[in-house]
Amino acid sequence: MIRNDIRAISAYHVPDSDGLIKLDAMENPYPLPENLRSEWARLLGASDINRYPDADMLDLRQRIAEREGVNADQVLIGNGSDEIIQMLIMAADQGACAVPKPTFVMYENIARWLKRPVASLPLKPDFSLDAMAFLNMCAREKASLAFLACPNNPTGNMWPREDIQKITENFRGLLVIDEAYGPFAEQTYSDMIGRNVMLLRTFSKLGMAGLRLGYALGDAEIIADLNKVRLPYNINSLTQISVCFFLDHYEVFEEQAKKICGERERMRAALTGLTKVEVFPSQANFLLLRVAKADAVFAGLKDAGILIKNLHAKGSLLENCLRVTIGLPEENDRFINALKELI
Ligand SMILES: *Cc1c(COP(=O)(O)O)cnc(C)c1O
Repeated sequence: MIRNDIRAISAYHVPDSDGLIKLDAMENPYPLPENLRSEWARLLGASDINRYPDADMLDLRQRIAEREGVNADQVLIGNGSDEIIQMLIMAADQGACAVPKPTFVMYENIARWLKRPVASLPLKPDFSLDAMAFLNMCAREKASLAFLACPNNPTGNMWPREDIQKITENFRGLLVIDEAYGPFAEQTYSDMIGRNVMLLRTFSKLGMAGLRLGYALGDAEIIADLNKVRLPYNINSLTQISVCFFLDHYEVFEEQAKKICGERERMRAALTGLTKVEVFPSQANFLLLRVAKADAVFAGLKDAGILIKNLHAKGSLLENCLRVTIGLPEENDRFINALKELI
């Protein structure tokens, strides 16, 4: 009954974080301020939960469009940006889906579930991208779709503007620039949105991971076509109400993002001072580190009550690499002190 290739893959593993300091999933560590909670709860309490949600979401698309400086018909809303990645791969013309490696795993995972070919280009050892080689691969594999996360996950670096420009000018398919970490980066490539360039954004990393809301900004015609493979009521009423409310208080989340960036720089300085740790440049809300024995450090941190992400794979570009999400100042201190004990 189930496809053999599906039976053969292992399920996406979300580790148990019960009782641990959670620095593994790029969540915003700051809770929603008390003064917003009661108003939010009141709005949710007044919702017509017996009715299906607004399927077209014009109000919400308009609100997002205003914030982003595009038209409402250039906005596509997904149940997390993961769902938009799925819509893109479902609707894409034949040809490969091009990605760098390592990058966000869902591009490749979803392509595999949908039996679409994936073409991946290894990054250089410093995690930079050879843009010409990427373009050549796209041409050779007749890629209809390419994903570039800017900043990249799990490496944290940005692709230079000239490279992105070169790719947009020469790629014949649709380039999807995934700015999941945009709120923590120095620049955006939103000005490049066009006929063959789409931008992905999400509320997840900004403080609303529990909501599941992501969106794409792009060419109105392409957005209209993608809309045809969107499930009619993909965003529930409670999420729609919540997002409209949070957009009214967006500055709260921007403030938190600023604090997270400050903490990132403080962490970077502290970790750079440790001779046995290599810290890679990051414009996201996490840092990528290399240590001598990642498995042991990861396990030791877990014993000390701190959960991070172990990316170690022998012989891979991420050999002995760990990824730590920026947490609250006291959580970051706990991490730094525990790490010092383990290296
Ligand atoms: C976390 C992440 C996403 C997923 O975001 P959701 O909106 O929570 O589905 C998308 N892209 C990248 C690069 C990410 O790291």
